[in-house]
Amino acid sequence: MIAIGYYIFTTIVATVVGIILVISIRPGDVISNGAITVKSLDATPSQSTRDVFLDLARNIFPENIVQATFETSGTVYVKMDKPVDRRTVIQKNGNRSSNNDTDPNTDGRWTPTSVYRPGMNTLGILCFFVIFGVILGRHGEKGKIVLQFFVTLNDITIQMVWIVMWYSPVGIMFLIIGKVLSVEDMASTARQLVVYLTTIIAGAIIHVLILLPLLYFVLTKKNPFRIFRGIPEAVVTALAIASSSATLPVTIRCCEENLKINNAITRFVLPLGATINMDGTAIFYVVSVVYIAQMHAISLHFFEMILLSLCTVLTSVGAAGIPNAAIVTLIVILSSVGLPTESISILLAVDWFLGRLRTIANITGDCLTAAVLDHFFPQADVDVEMRPERPLCTSEDENHMAELV
Ligand code: ASP
Repeated sequence: MIAIGYYIFTTIVATVVGIILVISIRPGDVISNGAITVKSLDATPSQSTRDVFLDLARNIFPENIVQATFETSGTVYVKMDKPVDRRTVIQKNGNRSSNNDTDPNTDGRWTPTSVYRPGMNTLGILCFFVIFGVILGRHGEKGKIVLQFFVTLNDITIQMVWIVMWYSPVGIMFLIIGKVLSVEDMASTARQLVVYLTTIIAGAIIHVLILLPLLYFVLTKKNPFRIFRGIPEAVVTALAIASSSATLPVTIRCCEENLKINNAITRFVLPLGATINMDGTAIFYVVSVVYIAQMHAISLHFFEMILLSLCTVLTSVGAAGIPNAAIVTLIVILSSVGLPTESISILLAVDWFLGRLRTIANITGDCLTAAVLDHFFPQADVDVEMRPERPLCTSEDENHMAELV
């Protein structure tokens, strides 16, 4: 629980760092120098902060999980000829509205009504399956069939994605060519991309080289840079293969041999981190989403930022530690805040580099967490039954890694 709590805390810190940087640097405004007319994400000007907040709450608990995969709940203001008691408003979907407000700003002629619009309710789906997964995990033997069903479904989906990925070099080429041809001012766009990259690099540096070491120092009173000296091989491997899961054997070996971290800690905390702790990915998500919003001159208000942060934390927990996982899941976050998903095509051009940077940030965060827990639980021991029969990283594994690299 402490490891999970620590991981989630550091991901929240990474999200906040990303938001602060992208809001202050404004990489998406470089072309227009911020002089563009800002339009709100919501077409209805009278939608209040309260509506956005209530929409957020309604979306966290979807009425229908199947519907949540293609529709999301939102408040719209319906113009009425005379003030209407909202209890009498029947929505398109046949449900009655539950609130009897009329908007005082519009002389009672506008009535807030909750409707379903096209677009996936990402937050609702994530929350539903987090709860579903936790409860399924408690079902032991009986739950294995359901678990097996989802594992197989996942395998089939991944294989289908692999088939599609054969087409990806051609597809991505056309996406990028299309985007490049539609760019009017190439120099400014390149400048904008450079500022975007700089924002993410700055976020990763601040988080990994300043905040996480500071947290480590505050908690353990030890020199955090000792950890960096122990993990260069893991960093180089992450740089080469852009996957925290594939880097895992090397990360474990560096922590055990160079940093002398208890193997009961490394063998639990590091695999867990490679699965759920993605601080670099969280920085990438928030910077990219706000960057795309800025490029389209869309302002995200406070509650949309909260929604973005929630989706970022949950999606980064769910993202796989495989190459370029984040660019795929970024589409999910973009649609959850209602931004155009086609815009990621411009980011594909630089993701070969950003993917590597994210992976380095992700594994460094895992190692620092393992070191913190090692400080607090020096006596931790693995259950005899759980103790692996062979070391987690044998020379065979290392040869395999070398082949991959
Ligand atoms: N490649 C990253 C990792 O394995 C995930 C990502 O694409 O951000 O940690």
